[in-house]
Amino acid sequence: MPSENAPENAIEIRDVTKRYAGTRKAPPKEALRGLSFDVPQGQVFGLLGPNGAGKSTLINIMAGLVTKTSGTISIWGHDIDHDHRNAKLNIGIVPQEIVFDPFFTPFEVLENQGGMYGVAKHLRRSEELLRAVHLSDKRNAYARTLSGGMKRRLLIAKAMVHSPPILVLDEPTAGVDVELRRQLWELVQQLNHEGVTVVLTTHYLEEAEQLCDRIAIINHGQLIANKPTRELVGLMGEKVVAVTVDRDITALPADPRFRKCVKAGERVIEVTYDKAEMTAGQVLGLLQDQGFTVEDVSTREADLEDVFVQLTSAAA
Ligand code: ADP
Ligand code: MG
Repeated sequence: MPSENAPENAIEIRDVTKRYAGTRKAPPKEALRGLSFDVPQGQVFGLLGPNGAGKSTLINIMAGLVTKTSGTISIWGHDIDHDHRNAKLNIGIVPQEIVFDPFFTPFEVLENQGGMYGVAKHLRRSEELLRAVHLSDKRNAYARTLSGGMKRRLLIAKAMVHSPPILVLDEPTAGVDVELRRQLWELVQQLNHEGVTVVLTTHYLEEAEQLCDRIAIINHGQLIANKPTRELVGLMGEKVVAVTVDRDITALPADPRFRKCVKAGERVIEVTYDKAEMTAGQVLGLLQDQGFTVEDVSTREADLEDVFVQLTSAAA
């Protein structure tokens, strides 16, 4: 767990690039293109981005599974190239892909991992970790008999055997049911309350919104946003009004104050506007002036999804 001399930033990423040489199955690919950002100590940090953005590549570089092409990464103040051992001791990583030796029990998996990290027998926390991830009753089951969700929880426990101050989770809740997702969120929050800095990648914007103090968004291997969650979500105080009109839409209304105007259905127009600049009433007035008869209206605050779509499409 974090010591008194915790660094200000748990992780520092500088100008990291990764070029995959390509294989028979995959063409060469520039997966990371000069990525730089910091993960402040003590936070739950969300790394977001569409499929193929480079999230797993970055995490696998930190885990030592992929070699970066250039740039530097420092983990808890230790450079991963020059001080590999200390960097590794200060981070626990749960990769996206689940891999286990199917013939070990959860207890054995944790004990073996403890051994690998040189944790003395009397200092191991296998039982405690199994309890934390709700797997005590599966202590002696073969890993291959565990459900997908149980395996994921076991992987989290495995990443924590050496009590690192940083835990990194790559898509921890992908393909996981609602109940288990909630359990994982609780676990993440509990670890964070105990002082662990958590980095997670996710596809679920709601998850990022609820769990993360700060969110970085990457697209095509480049950083396109990095802000406290609240700031990102409230980005420019945007609001969205969806208007159902009385006929099929052939041309969209236009106004310089519209941030965005899209056809969201045969007869639905969605206008994004800035609350500081206009009101929903003014949007409706403009639509009527431009010949649309309004049949139904709903409004909502812009959420992370809108911000995400806006940022990723702008950078595409
Ligand atoms: P994400 O986790 O954000 O979905 P990845 O880091 O897995 O993204 O992938 C980033 C890009 O690099 C993708 O275009 C992917 O196809 C490519 N890629 C990943 N691994 C390899 C590899 N071993 N060889 C070639 N290309 C790869
Ligand atoms: Mg991935």
